[in-house]
Amino acid sequence: MIATARRLPDTLAALRAAKTLEAHDAWSPEHLRAHQQERLVALVRHAAAHSPFHRERLAGIALDDDLDVTALPALDKATMLEHFDELVTDRRLRLTAIEAHLDELEHRPHADDLFLGEYRAMASGGTTGRRGVFVYGREDWTQAIGGLLRWSGGFMGLTPRLPRRRRLASVVADVPLHMTARMARTLDVGVHRMLRLDARRPVSELVGPLNAFAPEGLTAYASVAALLADEQLAGRLRIDPATVAVTSEVLTADMRERIEAAWGCTPFNGYASTETGMLATSCERHEGLHVLSDLNLLEVVDAGGRPVPPGTQGAKVLVTNLVNRTQPLIRMELSDLVTVSPATCSCGRPYPLLETVDGRSDDILVLPAAGGGTVSVHPLTLRSPLAALPDLRQYRIVHDASGLTVEAVIGAGNGETGAEIERRLTAALAERGAGGTPVTVTQVEAIERHPGSGKAKLVESRV
Ligand SMILES: [Zn+2]
Repeated sequence: MIATARRLPDTLAALRAAKTLEAHDAWSPEHLRAHQQERLVALVRHAAAHSPFHRERLAGIALDDDLDVTALPALDKATMLEHFDELVTDRRLRLTAIEAHLDELEHRPHADDLFLGEYRAMASGGTTGRRGVFVYGREDWTQAIGGLLRWSGGFMGLTPRLPRRRRLASVVADVPLHMTARMARTLDVGVHRMLRLDARRPVSELVGPLNAFAPEGLTAYASVAALLADEQLAGRLRIDPATVAVTSEVLTADMRERIEAAWGCTPFNGYASTETGMLATSCERHEGLHVLSDLNLLEVVDAGGRPVPPGTQGAKVLVTNLVNRTQPLIRMELSDLVTVSPATCSCGRPYPLLETVDGRSDDILVLPAAGGGTVSVHPLTLRSPLAALPDLRQYRIVHDASGLTVEAVIGAGNGETGAEIERRLTAALAERGAGGTPVTVTQVEAIERHPGSGKAKLVESRV
């Protein structure tokens, strides 16, 4: 238990950080923007002073108090990894050594080892391409956990309680490589009692441990929460969480309805990444997702990197993590499709609202067009027609050389669901201008999850 005792001071610091952050809820939007600007300038100056990579990129840019973030260069994952050793602010941090540390951690489920005794190294759960590697120092982590505690406390009502700690269950990838697992590990030290279940296990194996634990709060990938809702509605799962939160995957209207029917509460939607920690979350009014703009600066841009106006979906997001001083991520690209809301939330919190966060894990498909050439098909084009099919419990649409294959978990119905899926998707593709891509429906018992992250994609490109 030495490791736990050593971590308790970190946990207490995170609780204090959460208190400080919660006070921002009462600020005016102007006050919050001024605070964000102050943190941005401090971060950029820190990066210029301690990161050779950033020093070179920022040369010639005046780092004044009124610095405009859009004047700074954007950063993609490949560049970040290529220059990792010069980008970080501690010269002892080397990508090859951290990769070896991660490979070793991967095989020890509940590990929370600190690299060089002070850094938490994690990998992004990216489903395609090279994994991202991210490092948080002790103080960076304190702030990130503070942000997480504000989410569960201030936004969801699960404030830490003593001496009988709250019971929170989290069903995500329980691999220490992933931030979700490391955050749960930190909260387990003195804040909440955590039951951590691995999302990659079959749902039937999750029911027993959840019934025994009786969680007051449940956090899960959206698809897992929806499957657990089915278990609850079928009477096998018998839990009564006051709050349900979903992260990391697309939450469809159908999933939300199943969760509401099972537990009588609207799920909180959290938008997070290893790059940023908690990035945005819904509040108790569920009018959109509040950007936690005191911790991150988020820009929604088009494919060319130009800002898009509120109400218009961007092609990617640029995030600047305002708390990580170890690995300064300034205007780091995330491939999410995000729409900023022109509205403000009726709760009165000053954080700007996002209307939608889409394509969080789904792929955009490039298909042959009916008139020649190609057409890009947004995942929503394919998901929307399937949203109102009551017998369709879960699905995955895979695009490969043979066309579109829909793996479908179908409930007991009239036997027409497979044909209906095919008909609806074919019609949706025709409407979008795609032609000559056959749609095949295969009925399966369960949808296979990504072996590393445990996440499920709804729309996946394999071409
Ligand atoms: Zn709100």
